[in-house]
Amino acid sequence: MSQHKLTTRIVHDGEHPERNRLGAPTVMPIVSSATYVQTNAEGIDWGFANVNESFTYIRRGNPTVQALEIAIASAEETKGAIATATGMSAMFLAIQTALYTPSPKNKTKRVLCARDVFGSTFTLLKDVFALQGYETLLCDTTNLAEVAQVMVKQQPDVLILEAISNPMLKVSDIPALTAMAHEIGARVIVDATIATPVLRRMVHDGVDIIMHSATKYLNGHGDIAAGAVAINDPELLKSAQKFLRLIGLNLAPYEARMVSRGMKTLTLRMKQQCANANAVATWLTQQPAIKTVFHPSLPSHPQHELCKRLFNGHFGAVVSFELVNASRSAVFGLMDRCKIITPTTSIGDIYTLMTYPAISSHRDIAPEERAKQGITDGLVRLSVGIEDVEDIIADLAQALS
Ligand SMILES: *Cc1c(COP(=O)(O)O)cnc(C)c1O
Repeated sequence: MSQHKLTTRIVHDGEHPERNRLGAPTVMPIVSSATYVQTNAEGIDWGFANVNESFTYIRRGNPTVQALEIAIASAEETKGAIATATGMSAMFLAIQTALYTPSPKNKTKRVLCARDVFGSTFTLLKDVFALQGYETLLCDTTNLAEVAQVMVKQQPDVLILEAISNPMLKVSDIPALTAMAHEIGARVIVDATIATPVLRRMVHDGVDIIMHSATKYLNGHGDIAAGAVAINDPELLKSAQKFLRLIGLNLAPYEARMVSRGMKTLTLRMKQQCANANAVATWLTQQPAIKTVFHPSLPSHPQHELCKRLFNGHFGAVVSFELVNASRSAVFGLMDRCKIITPTTSIGDIYTLMTYPAISSHRDIAPEERAKQGITDGLVRLSVGIEDVEDIIADLAQALS
């Protein structure tokens, strides 16, 4: 990592691979090759022995993917990063790596997971890791007293949470929770997809594995799928690399190049999107058709002060709100009347996206259980984009009227 500021680092780090060679490309090329030649057989032997310093076979490493990994590690200020095929493969790798570390506790391994974690992360724990004998416990990570109680009693091995959750936009106290987990010897995985390194570099809180769905803000343009983990501890990093190369969760070179390119504007996009989201959230609070607005920028948000303290003056760019008329037909009408805002799933694109969790991310959860989490039939999620905020608000105004 260079000594420059984040915005400078994400523009340059991992780029200019052969800066001193006459006529070399400025931009890291898409190296589309499954195998790599060496000068002689000794070189091949050396390449297999020194997997991080040479390239032998695509599943063991690729120059374009490595360039992205350098950029992500630089952005997160960790010793290393690993790019994966999707956000979910990054989460799988993160959990597998955290659980693999031999436990001195000599018991069934337990994962303590935030109750409102991304739906597929919960399903991964329930349907995949549970079958391998790992237990999952859920708790409200915004309630430090509850977490402390569960930790002392259940002695989990891994804590999984999101810096900012969705669609309810709850903010967890990452430094305090990491300190609590480390006190009982548990590893901490934070899904930093919505926060991004622009809001906080959580390696300085001691977070063991910082995970991203790079499909979202890191790439930012909604045109590829990718994931990443950023890890500071050399032993954990080595385990994660070993699993990646064995299982083949690798990101492909073209997708890696797309994320490298998208990331160059990450700070510009995030600042604009966060500012737009603040304005949209405030405007929504003044609309008679809206019952409740969820965004950490609002003074009424329970973690408004915490967010101010943790996130560098930003509050994230996802906003949720509940219609007074909390019905499926009212939400469908709103979605159908939007002209610029795109009714589609996902977050983190340059476009403003509108999602109805009841029919998408939370479709398979019983209505009563959904309601308990605050995800009613009137809840709508907006991922605010980089458009002119006046146009976003005008589109919402005409769609609500
Ligand atoms: C999208 C998302 C994921 C999963 O990422 P994919 O790239 O879709 O596999 C995980 N966590 C969060 C918070 C997400 O938004």
